[in-house]
Amino acid sequence: MLPSRPVTKNQTIYVAGHRGLAGSAIVRELEGQGYTRVIKRTRAELDLRDRAAVQRFFGEVKPEVVVVAAAKVGGIQANNDFPVEFLLENLAIQNNLIESAYEHDTAKLLFLGSSCIYPKFAPQPIPESALLTGVLEPTNEAYALAKITGIRLCQAYAREYGRNFINAMPTNLYGPGDNFDLNSSHVLPALLRKVHEAKTSGASEVGVWGTGTPRREFLHVDDLASACRFLLENYDSPEIINVGCGEDVSIRELAEQICTVVGFKGRLAFDATKPDGTPRKLLDVAKLNALGWRPRISLQEGLEKTYAWYCAQPAR
Ligand code: GDP
Repeated sequence: MLPSRPVTKNQTIYVAGHRGLAGSAIVRELEGQGYTRVIKRTRAELDLRDRAAVQRFFGEVKPEVVVVAAAKVGGIQANNDFPVEFLLENLAIQNNLIESAYEHDTAKLLFLGSSCIYPKFAPQPIPESALLTGVLEPTNEAYALAKITGIRLCQAYAREYGRNFINAMPTNLYGPGDNFDLNSSHVLPALLRKVHEAKTSGASEVGVWGTGTPRREFLHVDDLASACRFLLENYDSPEIINVGCGEDVSIRELAEQICTVVGFKGRLAFDATKPDGTPRKLLDVAKLNALGWRPRISLQEGLEKTYAWYCAQPAR
């Protein structure tokens, strides 16, 4: 068994998925807080689906700490349409990383799961104990099953081999670097883009998928990154821990707030032929709060910042 010690700023930390929404924010947070040895590899440099390549990389670099922020992610439509890819790619990426971390004596690993691992009809807010107590939401079952397997693998390494492999479950994330592609994005970036385009084209309405009644919790990715650093420095248990802000809004409320931020005065047109997904997803964050962590960015501020970032993108 390896001794578990607090993560320190001079350790090497490999952030897998450093170009993604979560991974890029985690790198910003760590480097901003004085971690000087953050390791990154682009997809061209290291294909995380390639087991031999990942093992070779770990053999050469031997990162002391690993953050698994790499995953194939997508919104309700992409998840529903491509279950094979969501299962296979995520299982391959996480298996390769977690197994290599074990083989090359990584002292601590943080695996990022998702709030969609919980049952469709879990009690709200959802406590960590709800894991595997009921059927999953079908529209994101493939992604959820892969993430549940990753959690159980980390817990198995902890139990069988004494490894400090921890598991954080973030709620729906958003922020700079998000995916704004309407076919594969999550609701928040999709609506920011649609409302922006409706305003600039002078349209009178904007399309919103589903009925508008599902409720979701949104966490700015900079808050997620700060929580990840907090957990790396302070949390050494394989038991899963939720990361959220503790408040949710309906999709209608979100759309209305986005219209205000963007300055669009038209109406919302709900398209009930599109799936609603799970009726509510609000995490119980009592455990993380009790450890002393709190988010700092309100939804209003986060929306304003993300919209400003979106407008500033030259390639848009
Ligand atoms: P989920 O949290 O896994 O369900 O993923 P999403 O973020 O993709 O969707 C959340 C909710 O927002 C669902 O009820 C969607 O139907 C709804 N929604 C409304 N408009 C959109 C849209 O333009 N794109 C997406 N992805 N979801 C939308």
